[in-house]
Amino acid sequence: MESVESSTRRAQSQAMMCSPIDLSHHLHPGVQVFPGDRPYTCTPISTILKDGYSVHEISLSTHTGTHVDAPSHFFPDGKTIDQIPFSTFIKPALVVDVTQKKPREKILWDDLAPYERQMKDNVILLLHTGWSDYWCTPKYYEHPFLDPAAAGKIMEKGIRVIGVDAMSVDETCTDGSVGKDGFGVHQVVLGSDGIIAENLTNLKALEGGVFMVSLIPLNLDGMDGSPVRAFAWSM
Ligand SMILES: [Zn+2]
Repeated sequence: MESVESSTRRAQSQAMMCSPIDLSHHLHPGVQVFPGDRPYTCTPISTILKDGYSVHEISLSTHTGTHVDAPSHFFPDGKTIDQIPFSTFIKPALVVDVTQKKPREKILWDDLAPYERQMKDNVILLLHTGWSDYWCTPKYYEHPFLDPAAAGKIMEKGIRVIGVDAMSVDETCTDGSVGKDGFGVHQVVLGSDGIIAENLTNLKALEGGVFMVSLIPLNLDGMDGSPVRAFAWSM
């Protein structure tokens, strides 16, 4: 018969295996948004003291906090968030370590090539820049960003979902301008009917393991993106 100690250890390790890892940032007033985007606000509508129950109105853009971009973010005839099959957002994670990249350095195909054989249509590619450490600071805008040509190669491999723990897959400028490549990566990925997830966090926790990831958005009819509560769990 199994001892109490070993059954406890087994339960603990099962709990560890099953316990999901949160890949989402908190939303709160003052939370960092893309330059020019509206701020996140939450306003009480009812309060327990006055009404006996609490209700708030929240206001945010479709690209606030941890979120996904639908093809219609850049393409008028592109799929909207409600038109994308549910299964697109739940797949095994392929985490690519690009933490060696410096502020505003480009992530090139050479950085991704070692993972080429694992790039298949049934994985979600997660670019681990480590930039989530700078969330809600000015340095968060200085993130490394993907080369559009590398994005094209990723699409060629069949991948349709790319996530990043940074503000954008393209360069983020804070003066109202766009970087040298413009929104080139958005154009390539969303133009290939792909999905982009931005402002992920905690990708370090996925290092060295085999994980499923969920990026399920709200079912927002006609919308170009949606906040998500992204998470991963050990397979
Ligand atoms: Zn977005």
